[in-house]
Amino acid sequence: MKKRLGIIGGGQLGMMITDAAQNLSEYISEITVLDPTENCPAAQAGAKQIVGDFKDEIAILKLAEQSDIITYEIESGNTDVLSKLKAKIEPSPSTLEIIQDKLSQKTFLSENGLPVSQFYDITSLDDLREKIKDLGLPVLLKVRRDAYDGRGNFKIASESEIEKAYQHFDGKSLMVEKFVNFKMEVSVIAARNTKGEIAAYPLVENIHEDNILKMTIAPARVSDDVISNAGEIAKKTMEVLKGAGVFGVEMFVDQDNKILINEIAPRVHNSGHHTLQSCKTSQFEQHIRAILGLELGSTDLVHKTVMCNILGPHGFEGKYKPVQLERDGAYLKMYGKDISKPQRKIGHFNVVDLSDSKDTSELLKMADEIKNSVSIIPLS
Ligand code: AMP
Repeated sequence: MKKRLGIIGGGQLGMMITDAAQNLSEYISEITVLDPTENCPAAQAGAKQIVGDFKDEIAILKLAEQSDIITYEIESGNTDVLSKLKAKIEPSPSTLEIIQDKLSQKTFLSENGLPVSQFYDITSLDDLREKIKDLGLPVLLKVRRDAYDGRGNFKIASESEIEKAYQHFDGKSLMVEKFVNFKMEVSVIAARNTKGEIAAYPLVENIHEDNILKMTIAPARVSDDVISNAGEIAKKTMEVLKGAGVFGVEMFVDQDNKILINEIAPRVHNSGHHTLQSCKTSQFEQHIRAILGLELGSTDLVHKTVMCNILGPHGFEGKYKPVQLERDGAYLKMYGKDISKPQRKIGHFNVVDLSDSKDTSELLKMADEIKNSVSIIPLS
């Protein structure tokens, strides 16, 4: 029987889930999203929209009335409300609850034998000083909830910064973790369906600027050992977390080639956008297959790909000129956001080695050339 799909969050991730759901019309009869922005990206892609806040109980109940199965593109959903709903929620509210709190997530991972940087709960300024004595500097002080793109992190490199860092997050629940001197940030996009079957995409390399993902290189330029180790860690993470769906497992490769998990995203992930062209099954289709309990699609990387985010430039907020890209092997996806804001994700493009003959360095060069032609220019 066909299912009515509900999505909490209708930004670019909800938009690309909507695109994929429309291609799976033999399984999905209609798509409704809950998003506070009128005519959000997912609505532009054809989903029905309930305009409301992601945490608004009445709006969530309305979404549940119109859905047989609900998923989400953001991890800040209200788990109390979600766990009371009759509609099926995937990934499950209990999985979401573990992940939403960075401290409970790290505790859960380490209790399950998964590698993470050493961390502690922080209850006071004195407590922070004590824990730093144990960890040594530098450390990263982190807000436990509702922080993304690094906004809730404060690096403490010297004793004199401890108090400032603590005051910076005035009154918020905090944790502290040893700073990892990583040589690369990587991630695995992994899927687990409701029957417990697991499939993982190949390891990719992520380049951040100001804590925001700028570029993903698929596959990551690391040794086979690192690739297989990271793949195993991601699969084990999926086994212990149990929820169904696609998850982003963000990891560090340290100076000794050891893998440490940084963070889990219980949803499709920016570092998986390359799969739209590089793999037979995109992460968005895979997510729907996983939550519906269908057989998972192939995760093989068919073509080497470099994905670049298109971000709103600094110092400008407003409408911008249409962005176009016509070049063989380059694929543009704009998210339909009317207004550019500094560092806002407006779109992305994939540079794909369709002929399977290019080095990563050639793809990177091409991506660099394209970047200028797809920049956001104010509409005068
Ligand atoms: P987060 O929001 O916690 O995922 O962190 C955002 C970024 O901060 C990551 O992509 C890393 O670049 C950096 N980061 C987070 N945790 C650590 C850590 N323990 N050591 C070094 N860098 C970190």
